Amino acid sequence: MPTVNTPLITIAIDGYSSSGKSSMARQLAKNIGYRYIDSGAMYRAVTLYAMRHGMISDGQAIDIPALIAALPSIKIDFSVDGDSQSTLLNGENVERDIRSMEVSNCVSPIATIPEVRHALVAMQQKFGQEKGIVMDGRDIGTTVFPHAEMKVFVTASPETRARRRVDELNGKGVEASYEEVLANVITRDRIDETREESPLRRADDARLLDNSTMSISEQNEWLLNLYRTVTSGI
Ligand code: C5P
Repeated sequence: MPTVNTPLITIAIDGYSSSGKSSMARQLAKNIGYRYIDSGAMYRAVTLYAMRHGMISDGQAIDIPALIAALPSIKIDFSVDGDSQSTLLNGENVERDIRSMEVSNCVSPIATIPEVRHALVAMQQKFGQEKGIVMDGRDIGTTVFPHAEMKVFVTASPETRARRRVDELNGKGVEASYEEVLANVITRDRIDETREESPLRRADDARLLDNSTMSISEQNEWLLNLYRTVTSGI
């Protein structure tokens, strides 16, 4: 837990799909008493909204103007219950729905729409205005909080990430095959890296963490050590 003398900072954790960044970001936030925000869940919630309103067909947005017009009425928040956090879309708990393969297959094209990004980046900056926050995503260290005191960029091989994701989904009772998840991971990486608006890239001042061969506790320890180093130097 932070002491009175430890300054509150902003922590940005970016990286590839299913690199385990959300789990480690959540754990770090818990360890140091910070708020955790999963920015990917916000893009997923907007995608779910678009799907439910018939704005998506064959994995692509078919009515972008309608989605842009609806953005001001899309409210996203998070509720915390013990160790678990749920995403709220206009007050409805959509945590399970946003993790479906259907949403996973549509989210990256939706996340390329500049107006969607601007709206969500503004919400994310609001969440972080008091500092004391750990946020994970793709553009947190580059666009959302370019002045974050601590930035990490997480990666692992696509195969490692797909395997972990299948285990995670199956553990939650969501059916998914390794081949399907691997294809989804690779496609999302490509769309995220090549989009024009704030593409996925490592910020120049982000520390690289390749966790391919690290255990969860090693990753948590690595992050905590980095947090201690960063805050002791402020
Ligand atoms: O983190 P997660 O895999 O749940 O994110 C879902 C998708 O949302 C990503 O594949 C990416 O296309 C998009 N995203 C983004 N910028 C963020 C977070 C997520 O473009 N900051």
